[in-house]
Amino acid sequence: MDVDEIERVAVLGAGNMGHGITEVVAMAGYQVTMRDIKDEFVEDGYESIQWSLEKLAEKDRLDDAPEDVLARIDTTTDLEEAVADVDLVVEAAPEQMELKHDIFSDLSEYAPEDAILATNTSSLSISEIQSAADDPSRVVGMHFFNPPVKMDLVEVIYGEDTDDETAETTYAFVESIGKTPIYVRKDVNGFVVNSVLGPFMDEAAWMVSNDEATIREADAAMVHERGYPMGPFELGDLTGIDVGYHVRKEAGKEIPPIIQEKVDAEELGRKTGKGYYDYEDGPGVDYEPDDAGSFDTLRVEARMVNEAAKLIGNDVATPDAVDTGMRLGAGFPEGPCARADELGLDVILEKLEDLHEETGKDRFEPADYLEALVADGKTGKDAGEGFYEYDTEGVGSYQYLNFAVTDAGVLEVELDRPERMNALSESLLEEIDHLLTNVDTDDVRCVVFEGAGDRAFSAGADITGFASVNPTDMSEVTPTFETVNDFPRPTLAKVDGFCLGAGLELALACDLRLATEDSAFGAPEIGLGLIPGGGGTQRLIRLLGETRAKEMVFRGNHVPAERAENWGLVNRAVPEDEFDDVVEEFVDDLAQGPPIALKVAKQVMNDGQDASLDAGLRMESQGFGLLFSTEDVVEGTTAFMEDRDPEFEGK
Ligand code: NAD
Repeated sequence: MDVDEIERVAVLGAGNMGHGITEVVAMAGYQVTMRDIKDEFVEDGYESIQWSLEKLAEKDRLDDAPEDVLARIDTTTDLEEAVADVDLVVEAAPEQMELKHDIFSDLSEYAPEDAILATNTSSLSISEIQSAADDPSRVVGMHFFNPPVKMDLVEVIYGEDTDDETAETTYAFVESIGKTPIYVRKDVNGFVVNSVLGPFMDEAAWMVSNDEATIREADAAMVHERGYPMGPFELGDLTGIDVGYHVRKEAGKEIPPIIQEKVDAEELGRKTGKGYYDYEDGPGVDYEPDDAGSFDTLRVEARMVNEAAKLIGNDVATPDAVDTGMRLGAGFPEGPCARADELGLDVILEKLEDLHEETGKDRFEPADYLEALVADGKTGKDAGEGFYEYDTEGVGSYQYLNFAVTDAGVLEVELDRPERMNALSESLLEEIDHLLTNVDTDDVRCVVFEGAGDRAFSAGADITGFASVNPTDMSEVTPTFETVNDFPRPTLAKVDGFCLGAGLELALACDLRLATEDSAFGAPEIGLGLIPGGGGTQRLIRLLGETRAKEMVFRGNHVPAERAENWGLVNRAVPEDEFDDVVEEFVDDLAQGPPIALKVAKQVMNDGQDASLDAGLRMESQGFGLLFSTEDVVEGTTAFMEDRDPEFEGK
């Protein structure tokens, strides 16, 4: 079945996941029937959807009215009725193999012969589930993350018998509902995200169990030094210590004593009031940046990388799928493969080998794939190749940005970290710099920057890890903003949503800025005890004058788009539905304009700002004189006389 043929979907289960999946599928425009075994369960699920849609509408994050989305949802307790006429079934019933077998054998009877049958299981084998279906080739894993409305990732998992068409249509369906799919090409326990996430908790728990570290040290170091959204123990308390315990037990893994103790004492985390931290009689999660001490973060990260290497070596997933999975599914600041390439794969391998030798524990045994990469000299970014290949010359493919040059010569650059509101990390800044430095400017007539997702252009710098940096590391401001500012073609920031901090500085480094009316601008650094560090203070004062610039920098408030337009911070602030047209008008003018004249205009205007009027005028005259020798001037004047549009070639 092709994805275009999917119109009707059934979701089995109206619980935690089932109602959320129903909601996102209906939001995308599909007709959905949600089925549970009792009326009250169906009703509870439906009410949760209503509540969630209202919340989304309040935040202006819903395209349709809530009642229109609800109108696409039917509910029932009758399986036959639910699946009789559907193209796709998503099973989200409790995590028991026997139950799933019953469901998939019933589906063989009641669902149409060509319908795709997907399971949302997190930990059961897809191959085993599909064995209960008459036609296992149409059964596939479709693993959403909790809560489906918020989490962008869906793992598409092949069981042994899943055919390519089924997996590919499922993948396309996930894209059609606005989520990001990754392929998990073999049915391994934990799929991709939970496999790589396993050691995050596991290794930290072993280190605490062996008195090599404390809980607070581990959490503080992983969060404040390495930028993870939560520490391993904080995460364990949130998800429930028993949950991870059972997963480890079922996978036949040795249980770290600290986890066993907590389970025995029934201190299972937040839900019981006490886990690794005390939420009832104590302060709850209370580690501070200083607690990090000398916690060995590399030991934990090396094990995650090793797990990733096993998946890649066994053709379960590509490095890109692993990294996307960990960023979107686990909130990691960077994918483990990209991070390992930065750290050096030789460093990771050595760490694993040392620990393996020291402890004799299997969990440190290096993956064959990791050993092979290092043996081939593919030790990471510095070597030009590791998990990824790095183009040192010419533009490559990037982790955190997408780009394309259109036929009209528009270099479209999309900051692609929507899960972090496109926050500018060091890696993302390096990628922008690399792209603009290496792109062939002859092919480019203008550049447009925009943010992925629907919330932000860029909400700032990625400040995770700030608390532990050395001031001297930070005093050297990234060259990226200068590279953007000096790029010899006009640049335009297309702002839809938040444009804050470093995101504002990137927009300021552009020549022109267009925004939707709902956008907001700001330099919130002062609230962190900082000041803008990417040119913000200087560019704002030149652009807005002292009064307004100081208001922005000193107060750190958001400036709504309308005021930003009045102040001259943006060229236009327009309603959302007119935005693309306005951008297109600007871009057309820039892309069809005379490249050399635009380059010279940009240069003399940028440089002239910091020169005396006399010097500025001299620069202008020189530029003016120079342009007279170009073919573009001949074309421009001829076209004017002939009353036609000029076709500039940049000669
Ligand atoms: P849940 O207990 O909240 O919901 C399951 C629902 O299924 C219940 O309402 C139950 O009454 C209903 N049900 C029972 N038998 C059924 C049947 N034969 N047909 C239809 N519905 C039936 O559980 P959940 O957290 O939503 O998990 C559902 C599935 O999703 C599990 O396979 C789980 O592993 C997976 N999953 C869970 C999470 C999570 O974080 N909760 C994340 C990803 C995947």
